[in-house]
Amino acid sequence: MTVGARIDLLSKGHRSQTEEEYRKASYKILILGAGFGGIQAAIELDKHLGKRQDVSILVVDRDNTQLFQPLLWTVASGKNCPDDTTVPIRKFQKGRSFHVMHSAVKHIDLQNQVVYFDNGEDRPFDFLVIALGSVTAIPDLPGLRERALLFRSPADAIELRNKVIDALEMAHKEQDPEARKSWLTFVVGGGGDTGIELAATLKEYIYAGLFAEYPWLENEPARIVLVSRSSRLVPQSRPHISKTVQEVLEHEGIEVMNNTSVEAVTEDEVKTSAGTIKARTLFWAAGITAPKVVKDLPVEHARNGSLIVDKFLRIPQYPNVFVVGDSAWAFDARTNDPIPPTAQAAEHMGRYVGRTISSLIQNRSIKPFVFKPLGHLALLGQRTGVAEVGPLTFTGIPAWFIWHSYYLIHIPSWQNRIYLFTHWLLSLILGRETGQLRLSPGVLKEGIQ
Ligand SMILES: Cc1cc2nc3c(=O)[nH]c(=O)nc-3n(C[C@H](O)[C@H](O)[C@H](O)COP(=O)(O)OP(=O)(O)OC[C@H]3O[C@@H](n4cnc5c(N)ncnc54)[C@H](O)[C@@H]3O)c2cc1C
Repeated sequence: MTVGARIDLLSKGHRSQTEEEYRKASYKILILGAGFGGIQAAIELDKHLGKRQDVSILVVDRDNTQLFQPLLWTVASGKNCPDDTTVPIRKFQKGRSFHVMHSAVKHIDLQNQVVYFDNGEDRPFDFLVIALGSVTAIPDLPGLRERALLFRSPADAIELRNKVIDALEMAHKEQDPEARKSWLTFVVGGGGDTGIELAATLKEYIYAGLFAEYPWLENEPARIVLVSRSSRLVPQSRPHISKTVQEVLEHEGIEVMNNTSVEAVTEDEVKTSAGTIKARTLFWAAGITAPKVVKDLPVEHARNGSLIVDKFLRIPQYPNVFVVGDSAWAFDARTNDPIPPTAQAAEHMGRYVGRTISSLIQNRSIKPFVFKPLGHLALLGQRTGVAEVGPLTFTGIPAWFIWHSYYLIHIPSWQNRIYLFTHWLLSLILGRETGQLRLSPGVLKEGIQ
């Protein structure tokens, strides 16, 4: 047996496919993006069509990992490592027959049914699934784009720790009480799912992580202010969840300013419609927009740049082009409610589109998309959160426990589960990570003198 054959066997059926084989297939299904939506579409398609020789399923992503964004909070609060939050895409491929290509999408030509990649290659398609996610939207307000810190990636989670430590160190040596306060004030813009967990994570990291090293925080507490433009937090949730989230955050000592817009940011101030906050650090989590390659498509877009789809999650003029996850602007076919930009919805849409494409290929009828939300989870502090499960709403330790258990079960890799569980447990016993980690390459380099 050759080494190559042995590797194939060990990886339980991995097989590579030539470009020619892909082009020859009667049904070329191209999935752009291997995040929550894209991977579920590939798995579902494989389930129904994986054995057919005339079908080729190709998943393309610029990274070789799926990032579990919901787990970034525990990286930022110093409980686990960034690696624990990513699962290599090749792991999903084991025992399945879809193919994976490592490339960045540069341009999508819907008319001619071809996608172009940054490495100069292109691939035609018969069915296309756009699952390219979203990026954080930063409005063009004075000072905001230059000064706001974002939170989307493992590097951002580490940077949150770095920035908080920088601010505490600056406060530590500052003699002027007013200036010290501005170092100790952290503002979060955005009262959606990301904003509420971001504010809670800041509080948790400072008090559960750094307090032992900066005990003077007891007399000079850090201030976390959550600024939200809407009248209630997490406005896409039911009103009682918004109310519970606000109560839990306020109980944790976080100031919530609803009906308030950020208007400008300077080095030491955040100007809002309700007055100026003296603060040196602003995190921005107010809304998402579509990636450029999605925004560039000459079809109808929602205000945030995502693609407006019909009740089958297709671009109306292109019935063979489906959009799932954050890149889609979709509505539930039964209730007409908007589909939220969440991992849960992206996975649901991915599975639906996988089933729908396989039905179309097998000449079966298709049904419109109906979203059945499983609930709502938010981690809001060291031992608290909000968990909406069916008709029940939990807070405090039960919500905290449900959050951790759900993600441990949900992440599809035993390696990640073991690392996560061990790191969470060790952080309870040994404490949080409190060291700064500079991840930007070359940041410590100096020119030759
Ligand atoms: C900090 C944070 C916490 C969150 N917490 C929760 C939570 O608790 N619960 C919840 O339900 N949702 C949560 N979300 C939202 C959730 O992560 C998204 O809704 C979900 O990831 C959307 O899935 P998707 O498949 O549309 O996109 P993604 O999962 O983002 O996948 C998009 C994929 O496309 C790839 N890609 C993008 N551009 C290109 C390109 N040009 N070429 C090639 N590949 C490309 C990316 O590498 C990525 O793999 C959170 C989001 C953030 C940022």
